[in-house]
Amino acid sequence: MKTMLLICLLFSFPVAAADQLEIIKIGHPTLRAEAREVPLASFEDPKFQKLIDDMILTMDRARGVGLAAPQVNQSIRLFVMKSGARVPLTIVVNPRVEYVNEAGQSWSTEGCLSIPGSSLRVKRYRKIRMSYFDRSGQFVTGEFSGFGAIIAQHEYDHLNGVLITDLVEQLRAVMNTSGYTDAPLM
Ligand SMILES: [Zn+2]
Repeated sequence: MKTMLLICLLFSFPVAAADQLEIIKIGHPTLRAEAREVPLASFEDPKFQKLIDDMILTMDRARGVGLAAPQVNQSIRLFVMKSGARVPLTIVVNPRVEYVNEAGQSWSTEGCLSIPGSSLRVKRYRKIRMSYFDRSGQFVTGEFSGFGAIIAQHEYDHLNGVLITDLVEQLRAVMNTSGYTDAPLM
C-alpha cells in the first residue's frame, strides 16, 4: 500500500502538465520563415521538452496527424507526427530529408491545420530517407514510405516556409463541421 502511494506521488508531482497551444493560420509570417536549427543544448532544456509535449497534445486535440513547430509560432526545426497504428508517434528535430526518386511520386489529398477549410491535392514522393534527432538528442536515420512519408514531407515543408497552397495542382473544398476538411490534417 505504501509502495503504491509512493509511486503515485512520484508520477504526479514532477511532471508539468502539457498545454494546448494556438495554431497560427495562413497569412502569419512565421509560417513563411525558414525555421532555425535546434541547438544541441536545448534537448536538456525543460522548456523545449514541454514544447514537444504541448505540440503532441495540440496535434491530438486538433485531430491532426502531424504538427510542425512553426504552426505554433515557434520558428525552429521540430515536428511531431502520429496516425493510429500506421504511423507511431515520432518526434523529429533538425531533419535532413532525401527524396527517393526511384520509388516515384503519387497524389496525396491533404488538409493543413493552418489552412482551415481547404484540402489540396499535391504530389508527394512515395519514399524518403530522413535523418533527425529524437527528443532525447539521439541521432536517428530511417526510411519512410506510405502515409508516414507523406506526413513527414508535409511537416518538413513547414520548416522551410512552404505550404500546400504552394504545391497545389487542384483545389478541393470538402469541409466538415469543424471548418476543416475531411482530408488528414497536418
Ligand atoms: Zn500543415
